[in-house]
Amino acid sequence: MKISFYTLGCRTNQFETQAMEKLFAGNGFELVPWGGDADVFVVNSCTVTATADQKTRQQVRKIRREHPRAVIALCGCMAQKSEDGIKASLGVDVLGGNRDHAAFVRAVCDFCEGKTALDTGRESTGFVELPAGGLAERTRALLKIEDGCDYYCTYCAIPYARGHVRSADPEKAAAEAARLSAAGFGEIVVTGIEISAYGADIGYSGGLAGLTEKLTDAASPARVSLGSLRPTVVTEDFCRRLSAKPNFCRHFHLSIQSGSKGVLERMKRRYGPDDIRRAVELLNRWFDRPNITGDVICGFCGETEEEFAETEALVSELKLGGLHIFPYSRREGTAAARMPDSVEKSEKERRCAALARVSRKNYSDYLAAQVGKTFTVVFEHSKSSETIGGYTENYLYAETNSEKAADGDVKKVRIVSAGEDSLRCEPVE
Ligand code: SF4
Repeated sequence: MKISFYTLGCRTNQFETQAMEKLFAGNGFELVPWGGDADVFVVNSCTVTATADQKTRQQVRKIRREHPRAVIALCGCMAQKSEDGIKASLGVDVLGGNRDHAAFVRAVCDFCEGKTALDTGRESTGFVELPAGGLAERTRALLKIEDGCDYYCTYCAIPYARGHVRSADPEKAAAEAARLSAAGFGEIVVTGIEISAYGADIGYSGGLAGLTEKLTDAASPARVSLGSLRPTVVTEDFCRRLSAKPNFCRHFHLSIQSGSKGVLERMKRRYGPDDIRRAVELLNRWFDRPNITGDVICGFCGETEEEFAETEALVSELKLGGLHIFPYSRREGTAAARMPDSVEKSEKERRCAALARVSRKNYSDYLAAQVGKTFTVVFEHSKSSETIGGYTENYLYAETNSEKAADGDVKKVRIVSAGEDSLRCEPVE
């Protein structure tokens, strides 16, 4: 049977799709591109914004219209939050969730064999181990180490969709990192819903820093990079331990969300602007030329011009670039949904654009400062036949002429020039 996937949302969703692709392939399914002629279509949904919900519905309706006899299976965060009634309204055959993707795969296989699928993976269990590494990828592998979140930030629907924190077994995670490295992956990208909360639920005192030390040791020489981080996880101890690991990637994506004390309090982020300052100061002190990027929400409930100006000022002061900037999106069922969403849509967009200008300027200044420096690049794909590119150990995209490197090569390079969002490099070996 032929199967096809459509994935929305975050790296954790992408990891789960890659794992399901492997599990279905193990059951004899052939993977075909989305929209192609398949017997089974799987939509792995997201619910982080109202737009994500809408896109999920659109994709399912479209595929049902175009493939009336195909098996359609829906999983992921929007599915997890949905009632059974969505099956009839969208024409879904198997409704899963995001708790147990291995059970979901079995349920779809059962359905295809005409059996009634009882457990579709919507029930909460502990952390579910899934195979990492995907079918296609050969350079950078996602590795999920944690699921769920217990912070309940006022604007966020994720804890309601993903449930409580569940951490992977540290020994099993390290063994998987070693397997991925032995399989030829040049980098392991650690992902999860809130990786900063890693370990508390299983009594693992080492926390994220302890696990990352284990992963870097197990994966060496492959390098290890971390997904989004809560600023408060960046402590002196975190920096001292990880800066000692030569194959640890010095890219830090901080989910800061705002630079205003008042807004952070209304978001219930449990830290203030000074905690962000301290995290950035520590990273710059302990790591050589760290690339510090982040997430920011503009136009949160009641955000005044002055509060937005505080965010802009903090981003300028800390020279943060490469920011992912989102206009606040009201999510039903969250605490913020009961607050007045007072910032006009056009004003949210104006603030996002203003902050993006500061972020772009900081990022191109940072890139320009890398000219003449040397890095190690894991070359992975070409944007054109003339060039091949890949990421440095601090997550900067660098390209060279395609005859100078091949897919999967790990090469030392010197930066020869900088553009707005990428670099040109020359291999030095
Ligand atoms: S930390 Fe906050 S924003 Fe992040 S997933 Fe948890 S509730 Fe959502």
